[in-house]
Amino acid sequence: MTATPLPAFPERLDRLAEVAVRVGLGLKPGQELVMTAPLDAVPLARAITEHAYRAGASLVTTFYADDAATLARFAHASDEAFDHAAGWLYSGMADAYRSGAARLAISGDNPSLLAGQDPAKVARANRARSRAYVPALELIAGFSTNWTIVSAATKPWARTVFPDLPEDEALARLWDAVFAASRIDGPDPVSAWESHNADLRARTERLNASRFSALRFTGPGTNLTVGLADDHEWCGGATTAKNGIVCNANIPTEEVFTTPHKDRVEGIVTSTKPLSYQGTLIDGIRVRFAEGRIVEATARTGADVLAKVLETDEGAARLGEVALVPASSAISASGLLFYNTLYDENAASHIALGQAYSKCFRNGGEGLSEAELSERGANRSLIHIDWMIGSADIDVDGLTSDGEAVPVMRKGEWV
Ligand code: ZN
Ligand code: ZN
Repeated sequence: MTATPLPAFPERLDRLAEVAVRVGLGLKPGQELVMTAPLDAVPLARAITEHAYRAGASLVTTFYADDAATLARFAHASDEAFDHAAGWLYSGMADAYRSGAARLAISGDNPSLLAGQDPAKVARANRARSRAYVPALELIAGFSTNWTIVSAATKPWARTVFPDLPEDEALARLWDAVFAASRIDGPDPVSAWESHNADLRARTERLNASRFSALRFTGPGTNLTVGLADDHEWCGGATTAKNGIVCNANIPTEEVFTTPHKDRVEGIVTSTKPLSYQGTLIDGIRVRFAEGRIVEATARTGADVLAKVLETDEGAARLGEVALVPASSAISASGLLFYNTLYDENAASHIALGQAYSKCFRNGGEGLSEAELSERGANRSLIHIDWMIGSADIDVDGLTSDGEAVPVMRKGEWV
């Protein structure tokens, strides 16, 4: 057997862009595309723009985030400035989605950008941004349009993942990991994604047929029962957005996930990986839930930021998502800690604080009002933050409505 050499970098970048447009977005001729990207991701953003136009996009509009400009704000802006956000921008994005535009975010930000800044200012800036973002977030979370997030390896991100390697080597290693996880290394990435989506669909169908009323996670530092929302449905892989377009919201994705009941989470849970939250690392999280709400929270690092996050609003201390990922997933097998939720959440089972996905209900949540979603247990919040609670030491049982425990995962793997 001879190993096929990997294609050269420009070819792989081009394939990733093609997968982002064809698999991630399913972009349709005539659609507008709104893209956000870090400045370090310009080459991928340009490749995606080219593929979007080749797929028939009418207009691609990209907003770049510049780390140096963000730091200049923390260094020089007045104290009052940190309660301010670009509401006009997010309203404009919401308008674009309502009128049919697709949405693509390139992630690859410096995970520690704001680590040295005043946590109170970071929290205020995040809260102002979260509030301003609500109209756009609701459309995205409800899949009003087709959207995707894809990552670009960037130097600041690579330095965090490989602190001991020279910068160029770190960047090359991170790109290798991004390409492998995004399934673009084989001869036909688009059909590789089709079969991956079929596997995830089979998994969700099995869980949906089981109709568990709760999941129980047990392992070192964890004994957590997560009640599932009434009429919940398991989701994973490709999604049909409300505009009828099939998209993959996350590239990569390994998870199957559903909506927990906001009032029915009990017990103690310990994080299994650090959480990189808007420039700060929160590590060693340990929390206790009672009647769905976090009543005690500690963290080895970033505890002050975690405490502020939990105070964002009433729903910030409750769960909006529970997701299962085998510990042997390709991303987990890389053994890397990515400090990037899109990657780390696909290395381990996880829960998310905050906003629930309304589409993880029977019939995709179609026609359910806010009040009806809430009655079924869906949480509401300005935030949605995933953190990892799974590992090769964690067992998961599904609990049936009459209290029977059915093994779902043992030592982090599907039973
Ligand atoms: Zn998730
Ligand atoms: Zn999530």
